This record gives sequence, C-alpha cells and structure tokens, in this order.
Amino acid sequence: ARPVIAIVGRPNVGKSTIFNRIIGDRLAIVEDKPGVTRDRIYGTGEWNGVAFSVIDTGGIEIDGDDGMLRLIRVQAELAIEEADVIVFMVDAKSGVTNSDDEVAQILFRSGKPVVVAVNKVDNLQRMDDIYEFYSLGFGDPVALSGSHGIGIGDLLDAAVKLL
Ligand code: GDP
Ligand code: MG
Repeated sequence: ARPVIAIVGRPNVGKSTIFNRIIGDRLAIVEDKPGVTRDRIYGTGEWNGVAFSVIDTGGIEIDGDDGMLRLIRVQAELAIEEADVIVFMVDAKSGVTNSDDEVAQILFRSGKPVVVAVNKVDNLQRMDDIYEFYSLGFGDPVALSGSHGIGIGDLLDAAVKLL
C-alpha cells in the first residue's frame, strides 16, 4: 500500500486548500458518515517519484459545547492511526493558539513523524511569522501559502523525507 500523509490542524488554517494543491484532480475516496463524520477525504499524490495517499481530516465536525476540543482529538487520533507522516498545519496570521498546543501534545505522544506547515505566509515580509512555531517542538517549520501556491514543494520535500 502507499504510504499515508495526513493533514491535521484546527479549522480554518487552510488544510483543505493545501490538500487540493497536493492532489490536483486525484481525489480517491469521499467517505460520508452522517452524524459524527462529515467528509473524510482521501487523495493521492506523487513527489520525487514517491507515490503516497493524503488525508484531509478537516471535514470532521462534532457538535456540542466541547466540540472544538473533541474535534481536535478525533482528527489527531485518526491521523495517528492511519498516517506514516503527519502534516501539522497552523496559521501564520493567528500565531500559536491554545488549540495548536493541544494538537501538538497529542501528536508528540504518538511518536509519529510530524512536519509543521505554517500556512498563510502570503509574502516574504511575513517570513518572520514562522519562528514562533518552533515552540510546538517539531523542528523547522515550513512556510506555505495555499492561496498563492507557495511552499508546497518544500512541504512535500520535508514530508516525503520522513516516509
Ligand atoms: P481548513 O478548515 O483548515 O480546511 O481551511 P480551508 O482550506 O477551508 O481555508 C480556510 C480559509 O483560509 C479559507 O477562507 C481560505 O481561502 C483561506 N486560506 C487558505 N490558504 C490561505 C493562504 O495561504 N493565505 C490566506 N490569506 N488565506 C488562506
Ligand atoms: Mg477543510
């Protein structure tokens, strides 16, 4: 089977945007479980001759007061279960949030390889925004802009290296 890269992170950081950039038109499966899971989306990609599957875990939505925290836990657990490498996506505009720290703890305990992808670095003036993400504890963050299609190759270089 192909190795699996999962994209994890809180809502609105740009997971689906980056997922679509990676897969192009290679959407493989859309799993639809009404109730807990909305859309769990799988695609395929290839980089430097390495074929892989990629999961956008962000379609998962859980209602309730504790929804956000549960959402984050479920996403992280799914990724940990299935992934060979986890892309932990965060948002340069908002900086490190409490939810990001929650995700970081869960991913750290898993022992799986993690690449931190800092999205919404839309221009070079914003490169300084990535440094605070070293605090998540997963080494060098990769700067991205899903909107502008910047940094996708750098992300895939880093992720494929860890497969
Ligand atoms: P998800 O909830 O993590 O899957 O995030 P989405 O991919 O749905 O994106 C959330 C919002 O961020 C959307 O309005 C996107 O257009 C926007 N967005 C995604 N990537 C970028 C980016 O690189 N720069 C900026 N400025 N906005 C982005
Ligand atoms: Mg999404």
